[in-house]
Amino acid sequence: MIRDRETLDLLIDTVRRFVRERLIPNEHRVADEDAIPEEIVAEMRELGLFGLSLPEAYGGLGLTMEEEVSVAFELARTSPAFRSLIGTNNGIGSQGIVIDGTDAQKERWLPRLARGELIGSFALTEPGSGSDAGPLSTTARREGDVYVLDGTKRYITNAPEAGIFTVMARTDPADKSAGGISAFVVERGTPGLTLGTPDRKMGQRGAHTCDVVFERCRVPADNLIGGREGVGFKTAMKVLDKGRLHIAAVFVGASERMLDDALRYALERKQFGRPIAEFQLIQAMLADSRAEIYASRSMVVDAARRRDAGEDVAMEAACCKLFASEMCGRVADRAVQIHGGAGYIADYAIERFFRDVRLFRIYEGTSQIQQLVIARAMIRRASE
Ligand SMILES: Cc1cc2nc3c(=O)[nH]c(=O)nc-3n(C[C@H](O)[C@H](O)[C@H](O)COP(=O)(O)OP(=O)(O)OC[C@H]3O[C@@H](n4cnc5c(N)ncnc54)[C@H](O)[C@@H]3O)c2cc1C
Repeated sequence: MIRDRETLDLLIDTVRRFVRERLIPNEHRVADEDAIPEEIVAEMRELGLFGLSLPEAYGGLGLTMEEEVSVAFELARTSPAFRSLIGTNNGIGSQGIVIDGTDAQKERWLPRLARGELIGSFALTEPGSGSDAGPLSTTARREGDVYVLDGTKRYITNAPEAGIFTVMARTDPADKSAGGISAFVVERGTPGLTLGTPDRKMGQRGAHTCDVVFERCRVPADNLIGGREGVGFKTAMKVLDKGRLHIAAVFVGASERMLDDALRYALERKQFGRPIAEFQLIQAMLADSRAEIYASRSMVVDAARRRDAGEDVAMEAACCKLFASEMCGRVADRAVQIHGGAGYIADYAIERFFRDVRLFRIYEGTSQIQQLVIARAMIRRASE
């Protein structure tokens, strides 16, 4: 749903200009320094990018899902590290509070998340539980008016920068299923919370992950999301369903950028006396990429519209995440191929993108997990 076309076009135009004039020229610097320059972060705050999806009542822009994916298509046409910084505040790092938080929790954290004064992160994965997050072993034991958290979370995006962590922990040790899990907001600086050293990753320099360790970490009982035990896993799954649409839009945007670069290169590079864009084998790679990007974009917009209309789109979101991430991998590979040797050399953005986008098929649920989600939903619907 688009509430006001003119306002949305203005926002998209502003983001497009920001990407072109400020982010793309700084891509190399971000990769070299493994950090987003503070002046760029300040500009992102000014543009309201940290609060795109947060409710207007708490200082966000309150974008609908269709509006949010439309912005994500544009924002992703540069290094994914930029989007990653604002991604957790708009998505997995805030939506637990937005969807299931109490009014007091919303008032306490959402305005600062929307302004980008606070970075949110989402801590589900553990050393022993990734794709199968249900058996997670971090515990939260109630002691009077606090919960005492013990356990380790792994590969947590933006943890080195985060001011708050949405943490899934087991409150019922007798219940080893997802029903024994609750979700908490844990603030940075809480005694007993420590961070590991930042992970050295294949790509996406400028975006950071690390372990988050809880050792007798005393969290106020008021920080239990929604004030209810035993529903934390459901909260996490709702957050991921919405996140999958946003992230699928990011894969579309990144693919558009890689294809733009490949097309430009194919028009400039001459072999056998002609631009390589004139060779039909190159054209096939360009055309397949164009068609697959178009298909992915259409899927994402359709699923976003359905979600805005109140439909349950868990299956469609998984379809988008699966198809768009795999598509992005294929486009990256073809774009390197079109660049020839130059595609393997770090002077060209495609060498970096190729590594950056590999993550897309892994995080927020691997491709295999999306396949399982889709098939299970199909079987459930068929037997209803
Ligand atoms: C850079 C980065 C950022 C991340 N950010 C976050 C974050 O912010 N918060 C967070 O909580 N987590 C985060 N993660 C974790 C990420 O979501 C997990 O890595 C991912 O879900 C996969 O889990 P795993 O690494 O344990 O792999 P595993 O679950 O061990 O999977 C290994 C392989 O087995 C396959 N597999 C597993 N089960 C099945 C099955 N039933 N059928 C078929 N194949 C299967 C998988 O698809 C995969 O190919 C991040 C990871 C990375 C690398």
